[in-house]
Amino acid sequence: MNKRVWRQLVIMPFLMAMTLLCAGFSCSESGQKNDEVEVRTARLRMVEQQLRQRGIRDERVLQVMADIPRHLFVPPAWRSSAYTDSPLPIGEGQTISQPYIVAFMTETLELQGTETVLEIGTGSGYQAAVLSRLAKKVYSIEIISELAETARTRLTALGFTNVTVIVGDGNAGWPQGGPYDAIIVTAAAPRIPQALVKQLAEGGRMVLPVERGKEQDLLRLWKHRGKITQEDLGPVRFVPLVGEHAT
Ligand code: SAM
Repeated sequence: MNKRVWRQLVIMPFLMAMTLLCAGFSCSESGQKNDEVEVRTARLRMVEQQLRQRGIRDERVLQVMADIPRHLFVPPAWRSSAYTDSPLPIGEGQTISQPYIVAFMTETLELQGTETVLEIGTGSGYQAAVLSRLAKKVYSIEIISELAETARTRLTALGFTNVTVIVGDGNAGWPQGGPYDAIIVTAAAPRIPQALVKQLAEGGRMVLPVERGKEQDLLRLWKHRGKITQEDLGPVRFVPLVGEHAT
């Protein structure tokens, strides 16, 4: 085989194959980078338009919600909607709350970073992840074991190591982890669960949706010198808190 034939039959096809292979690699790499940039852009837009422009002021809350990959807390079929202004299905007939509601409830807890927090209604684990970046320790109770297991695995994989997910009925709280500086209930209760009030620390606050006939109101409670004061933060819409409601 002379040099010219050798170049045409062997070297040129080899170089072309290598070029295509490299182009393929850099294409998929840059495609991945483009996806990451797109998701981050959507998240920052969510923070500006849905949170800051609607009155969320706590910079720590805004920063945490700009950082946490909400799209990894929803089923793959809903990922492209993860940064929209609405709750989304997470399976078992349950939902991840609208970003604004997560931010608003978190802000009302006025966390400084030293607190032990109890969440009732782990769901996807997203609210627990947000709390975990703003408090020292988070206990989160979920009544549906499949959701609890998925959330636990997800939180561990994403490095939220100060969250403990517990399967159980949140109406009874989790006395083992208390008293709590802050309690957040992410499902609507027919009335304020007294076990949770008992597990609030002195100076502690609790935010929860409570049914009022066919409506629901978001309440914030404070415990000062053993006495409870209560504020009404306005109407909301949550899935119901199920389980054993004490009278
Ligand atoms: N915080 C969740 C998130 O970030 O994805 C969303 C919570 S979803 C709106 C309400 C959750 O409360 C559901 O997962 C539901 O199974 C749970 N739940 C309802 N009643 C409960 C109870 N008694 N104890 C614990 N979890 C309960």
